[in-house]
Amino acid sequence: MTIPLTDLKKQYQSIKKEIDLAIEQVVTNTNFILGREVEEFEKEMANYLNTKFAIGVASGTDALVLAIRTLNISEGDEVITTPFTFIATTEAIIRAGAKPVFCDIDEETYNIDTNKIEEKITSKTKAILPVHLYGLSCEMDKILSLAQKYNLKVIEDAAQSFGSEYKDKKAGAIGDIGCFSFFPAKNLGAYGDGGMITTNDEQTIQKLKFLRNHGQTEQYHYTLHGFNSRLDTLQAAVLKIKLKYIEKWITMRLEKARLYNKLFLGSEIITPFIPAYSEHSFNYYTIRIKEKRDVVLTRLKENGIACAIYYPLCLHLQEVHNDLGYKIGDFPVAEKIQTEVLSLPMYPELEKEEIEEIVKIVKSQI
Ligand SMILES: *Cc1c(COP(=O)(O)O)cnc(C)c1O
Repeated sequence: MTIPLTDLKKQYQSIKKEIDLAIEQVVTNTNFILGREVEEFEKEMANYLNTKFAIGVASGTDALVLAIRTLNISEGDEVITTPFTFIATTEAIIRAGAKPVFCDIDEETYNIDTNKIEEKITSKTKAILPVHLYGLSCEMDKILSLAQKYNLKVIEDAAQSFGSEYKDKKAGAIGDIGCFSFFPAKNLGAYGDGGMITTNDEQTIQKLKFLRNHGQTEQYHYTLHGFNSRLDTLQAAVLKIKLKYIEKWITMRLEKARLYNKLFLGSEIITPFIPAYSEHSFNYYTIRIKEKRDVVLTRLKENGIACAIYYPLCLHLQEVHNDLGYKIGDFPVAEKIQTEVLSLPMYPELEKEEIEEIVKIVKSQI
């Protein structure tokens, strides 16, 4: 049995007619840059997430960079984040000119440990950048109250959590700014790169509109050092269609996750923990296996089943971040979790029999 980590072909087949037509329309109209579909999609996104504004950009990484820049965070400023995330999180902080300051994660949620944030706050701290990992939102109330107490901004990295909820709000619609990615493998994936920034602040969205388009405030007049970072019309057209199905697809993901959980019940496998405040959206289904993780991984791959480690080496231990001065032992929880996590195939069209096969192989190794 060959099972991919995610299967974008099956999804395309299920919506092929609509997608092909939408692409054809864009190509026929040739309005490739900031065409009508971009604005329409932005409105639909804001509506879905219940934010006042949403603005399309070229990628999730750019969403983070522009968000940080818009808040005037730069040289000499510190941004507190998790070391257990994709490199784009810190890459964006550094590209905006600021310095990432890491805070250890919670052993159950794998998200930033909100009890350890306060001790990282200094006079240079300008923002907290929580990452909603795998599809599970962070404990936002605690983060918001710390932000209020110390006058900090909150930028959410919701790249892996499109459709997740925290209490009655959508992940990415809670802090000052929310950042999303439409990388093909995310819950809402484009057919190439894409990203989005959300906010309720009118001034912020105005500035972002200039920033993503070379800092242009009037045609060929520039008042800000900007970027070329717009969401392609073609991608917006694809995303507009996919947005209609996202609730259904997330429900299907949840069903798969429940089946995995049920089949792992009673074994030593640690299945995803979901706190009462959160609705998971399972961009990844990630289990934890003590000691035998790598044996299981090898055996799954031998059997044609794709799996992945998100992430095998925490960001504070990455060579690129040597200059930040961290060392092994600085974030013991994250360092332990990185040796135990394993993400299994997860996508809406995954079959029951496939999940049963995957679980059987995992269990046979422990
Ligand atoms: C995917 C991802 C990003 C970056 O998104 P791109 O669209 O690939 O640039 C940022 N943060 C996290 C946590 C991600 O998973």
